[in-house]
Amino acid sequence: MHFVIIGGGPAGNQAATYAARLGAKVTMIERDVVGGAAHLWDCIPSKTMIATGGAISYSERIEGMGLADVTTAVDNDGLTNRVEAIKDRMSADTTQLLASQGVEIVRGSARFVGPHSVAVDTATGTREIAFDAALIATGSRPRIPDWCHPDGDRILTTRDCYPPRQFPESITVVGSGVTGVEFVHMFASFGADVTLVVSRQQVLPGKDPDAAAILENDFLGRGVRLLKGARATAIERVTSDDGRDIVRVSCDDGRVVETTHAVLAIGSVPNTDTLDLAAAGVECDDGGYIPINHHCVTNQPHIYAAGDISGKLPLSSVASVQGRKVAEHVMGLHTVEHRHLDYDKAASAIFTEPEIADVGLAEAEAFAMGRKIRVTKVPFATTPKALINNDPRGFVKIVSDPATGVVLGGSIVGQHAAELISVIALAVTANLTVTDIVESLLVHPALAEALAQAAE
Ligand SMILES: Cc1cc2nc3c(=O)[nH]c(=O)nc-3n(C[C@H](O)[C@H](O)[C@H](O)COP(=O)(O)OP(=O)(O)OC[C@H]3O[C@@H](n4cnc5c(N)ncnc54)[C@H](O)[C@@H]3O)c2cc1C
Repeated sequence: MHFVIIGGGPAGNQAATYAARLGAKVTMIERDVVGGAAHLWDCIPSKTMIATGGAISYSERIEGMGLADVTTAVDNDGLTNRVEAIKDRMSADTTQLLASQGVEIVRGSARFVGPHSVAVDTATGTREIAFDAALIATGSRPRIPDWCHPDGDRILTTRDCYPPRQFPESITVVGSGVTGVEFVHMFASFGADVTLVVSRQQVLPGKDPDAAAILENDFLGRGVRLLKGARATAIERVTSDDGRDIVRVSCDDGRVVETTHAVLAIGSVPNTDTLDLAAAGVECDDGGYIPINHHCVTNQPHIYAAGDISGKLPLSSVASVQGRKVAEHVMGLHTVEHRHLDYDKAASAIFTEPEIADVGLAEAEAFAMGRKIRVTKVPFATTPKALINNDPRGFVKIVSDPATGVVLGGSIVGQHAAELISVIALAVTANLTVTDIVESLLVHPALAEALAQAAE
């Protein structure tokens, strides 16, 4: 079995490692960095920057913890080196793991030339590779509307921010979804004067309104300006009345914001346009995403698609598990043991301050479906560890079935929410009950005690 994988992000490299471990001959083709956009531009660099920004904003909140004075100043070179070092380390570790499993890595850009072959444009010429099965895992890139022309200098996409060439004195963030609010948090932590363009009346549309309200309060407390109910229609560089080079963001309701920088965070588009999918007979939808079944198989039974291009959840964690499932299916293991991926049970987190994480059924979703649920909510203010940490913001909310006690979902807002949600995620996936959580012998003092209280 020769298994060819296009794209070395989380979906591609997980599929490669597992398929090789199960005995396949695996070739992985990557045009940029092994580890993918996740390592190069998305998860890893953004969270590294947010960790440093978070350390600054944390130091501003530790008044009252018995310290006389704490000062922080950003060392731009130190920060750049730190981001680069973590990215390089992760990419090197992934490359080494793939090599140790015998995966061949081909550097170049791939496209299909037939139902069983790809052509790869490499630095030394074009190489044709035949395959028995293939995985398309080419990820996505920032969506750039025709009314905006990012220049990588003042008008930025999320990929230009690690760190930006020049730290913004002021910045307008366009887009108030997960990526947008993380960038607001990041730039506000580094001391920029931030404006967020929010197309609806709530940041994080679709997320728990209680969680969004806490985040909005945090933003307003840090001086972030929220422009609600506004859609950006133009972003351009102009000269201000006092002769400064600035960026002007114009909105559909006539409002205008002028800042030194602007960053676009309005979603992504799939990297399928240069793959010549038609040569392999693979279909994609109008948006360029490739429809898949529950085994990640496309309309061609020997060609799979996973990660962002599958149009499911654009999360690195989901891409990795899809990659693993593909490897099992390619090697015939799904007939022995297989649990379909349930995308409704994927945990996700927003790395703001406080952090926001959720999993499974949301309260609003249950009401919309007319489903009976039990909702219990415990504020961290009643948890000793939150008081010790001097950060009692946020809450734990658990949604369960009133008849059986089975945990259906939950959300957490507060310190370490991204870690704590794992307990609820496990309960949701394994059909555990609230009693299972209450009767777990947890650590004291720990933020996790709020989980047990919420499960009571
Ligand atoms: C700012 C930002 C922050 C994020 N933070 C998080 C987070 O904290 N947690 C989380 O779970 N998710 C996060 N995400 C989402 C996450 O980055 C993606 O869901 C994830 O990278 C998708 O993985 P993938 O394997 O589909 O593709 P990618 O990681 O995009 O990898 C695809 C690879 O394919 C290669 N490729 C493309 N076309 C070709 C070709 N023709 N030939 C050869 N190679 C090709 C690309 O070079 C790339 O390396 C974030 C996204 C953004 C934008």
